[in-house]
Amino acid sequence: MERQELVTKARELGIDLTGVTTRQRLDHKLPAQMRPSRMSEFLDTFLVFGKKIPRGVAGARSRTIHQQQNAGLIHRSLEEAVGELGYWLEGADYLAVTVPSLLLDFKTTFPEDNTPAGQSSTFLRLAAVEAGLGTLGLNQMLLTPQFGPRVFLAGMMTDWKPGTDDLLNELADEPVKEELCPGLEECGRCAAICPEQAIPREALQGAPLSQYRGLDRRACARSSQPAGVFFYVEHLKALLQSQTAEQLQGKIFSSTTRKIWHNMAILRQGAFTGCMRCMEVCPVGDDYADLSCSPHRQQDLPEGVQHTIAKGLVQIQTAANGPNQSSQKQRHSAV
Ligand code: SF4
Ligand code: SF4
Repeated sequence: MERQELVTKARELGIDLTGVTTRQRLDHKLPAQMRPSRMSEFLDTFLVFGKKIPRGVAGARSRTIHQQQNAGLIHRSLEEAVGELGYWLEGADYLAVTVPSLLLDFKTTFPEDNTPAGQSSTFLRLAAVEAGLGTLGLNQMLLTPQFGPRVFLAGMMTDWKPGTDDLLNELADEPVKEELCPGLEECGRCAAICPEQAIPREALQGAPLSQYRGLDRRACARSSQPAGVFFYVEHLKALLQSQTAEQLQGKIFSSTTRKIWHNMAILRQGAFTGCMRCMEVCPVGDDYADLSCSPHRQQDLPEGVQHTIAKGLVQIQTAANGPNQSSQKQRHSAV
């Protein structure tokens, strides 16, 4: 089967981006616990898929339950599409194993591995870079030329190849050579808006992005997984510390319990997308010109990003409307 046939089928199923890399390349580049050979030693092709976040969702008022739920639905529809593609490949006599967007191996990873903004697991973001879909931004999020970071990811291992065994390495996609993110000094919008100050806000003047990009993943998870596992554990601790039956009853039937149930039963993948502010403000991507017309996005950083430079160090000021006070309150109300 030709590569174009596979890409066309993926598009028909609603998958916007398809990148091809190999198990061998990922094994070589990724840390031991992420190597795809842990899943299979004979499926040699690794496909990475991206589904765009509609401009209406990215342009909506931030932190609304509607936006979070929409993000969960987009994740689910991507996973279903990749599942369908797997059946289609198997119908053509290939083998296929899907890799869901937010899959965690709890022996080696933690829920904060799915930060920032619930874009996907770290493994899939690194695989997407190898498969030529884009480069990592200041906050370790995948940036694509088409949609910037406004894309969710999923993957697949298969024995389909874009050519013969010998040609697999040559026909796989190459990583994008130039950084799409201009860095903290030239941009820094994600760092300025982040409610948790989880994104680097200072760097040596002129330093390359690779030297300072990063993310405080646990801090990000407080906002992006607002009723996630950490919140759940705090709630359990509070239940166990109840002194009286009345206290216990009050905590069991509290809005916190209902919120956790709603995240697990209704939002599901949306439980990881409680904050997507860094995605919304990033100017990379062909979609950004339209997105920036949203009145909500125009309210994000009305003064732009304030940089200060002193003694060779560039620093970014947190935006006046950046810190997410509601998330701070939510955190404290968990107990
Ligand atoms: S803006 Fe939100 S999703 Fe992005 S890094 Fe900060 S807390 Fe995480
Ligand atoms: S908002 Fe700016 S600094 Fe942040 S990832 Fe996007 S381009 Fe890079």
